Amino acid sequence: MITCIRCGICCKSGICLLGKEDSTGKCIFLKFSDHTYSCDLYSKGAISKEDIGIGLGCVIRRDSEMFEFYRENYGEQYETIN
Ligand code: SF4
Ligand code: SF4
Repeated sequence: MITCIRCGICCKSGICLLGKEDSTGKCIFLKFSDHTYSCDLYSKGAISKEDIGIGLGCVIRRDSEMFEFYRENYGEQYETIN
């Protein structure tokens, strides 16, 4: 598992189904404090860890590493099907 460092990039790059956009396109529940980001819905007890995948590590970096692994090992097929 790739540790989540609470950088907030996942929420900035795409708002989840529970989120809500402000006028600038950012999620109104994404909060920054003490050098880390957090979800205010979870902090205030409105949702559970499971609802937004807390404790599962970094989904974005895991997926990009898996994608790179796939390209390195199956690059030829990848070029063919895309
Ligand atoms: S899941 Fe990944 S992108 Fe999202 S806050 Fe954690 S480290 Fe950052
Ligand atoms: S609701 Fe929480 S987890 Fe979803 S995008 Fe907003 S801050 Fe991120």
